[in-house]
Amino acid sequence: MSSAIAPQETTTPAVVVRARVFGESDKIVTFLTRDLGKVTGIAKGAKRSKRRFVNVLEPFTHVSLRLRQRPASDLAFISACELLDAPRSFTLDLQKFAYASYILELTDRMIRGREAGPETYELVRDALGLLERSAPEPGLLRGFELHLLGLTGYEPSLDRCRRCGTALAAVDAVYAQPARGGLLCARCRGDGRTYVISRATLERLTLLQRASFAAADARDFVLQPGVAAEARALLRSFFAAAVTFPLASEQLLDER
Ligand SMILES: [Zn+2]
Repeated sequence: MSSAIAPQETTTPAVVVRARVFGESDKIVTFLTRDLGKVTGIAKGAKRSKRRFVNVLEPFTHVSLRLRQRPASDLAFISACELLDAPRSFTLDLQKFAYASYILELTDRMIRGREAGPETYELVRDALGLLERSAPEPGLLRGFELHLLGLTGYEPSLDRCRRCGTALAAVDAVYAQPARGGLLCARCRGDGRTYVISRATLERLTLLQRASFAAADARDFVLQPGVAAEARALLRSFFAAAVTFPLASEQLLDER
């Protein structure tokens, strides 16, 4: 007798975001999928079964996931999971591991439910792919952050004053607001706590905002030390409304 696939079963490519053992033999795993956004599911017998889930339920792994969503539960049932690609360098290089962990943790924080579209899955997959084949450059994280902000509705304007809309290319100095994010012209900075952002950093971030991770080379993400520090602080302010830093993965992160 042939076993018919249940109608509510779906197969989608996905990246494993996190996994933990549940009970005696199961695993609860969160995926960023192409077709269903962020999904958490239970893999029955995953801790014991060498056959069904061998090495596929580890963070960073790129898989083809088959799951059955359950109407009454947020927890899907993972029917099968097939390995597409597993990055090898992250287990050998602590900085790459830290970068990759930060990428997944930040994504996990920014994507609340199943709202993520395929672009978010593609961004994470391509950023991890680039990290796998090249050196961990701080600019890679900044570029990733800019793209993630754009995909989650927080895209910062790097070329216009947030308050009055003046083109920042035409003003003498550009100011950042650490607590609220956003860039301001001198007229709009008021008496609030602001500081000057260098042109070099703004130009570099504008390029990173347009960079494609799929086509990129690690050299596209090299930052001068002064620019790197300024860009990191500025990006952090853009996340101020959505994320509280530091993230757990930053304990390992040693940004040059
Ligand atoms: Zn202004």
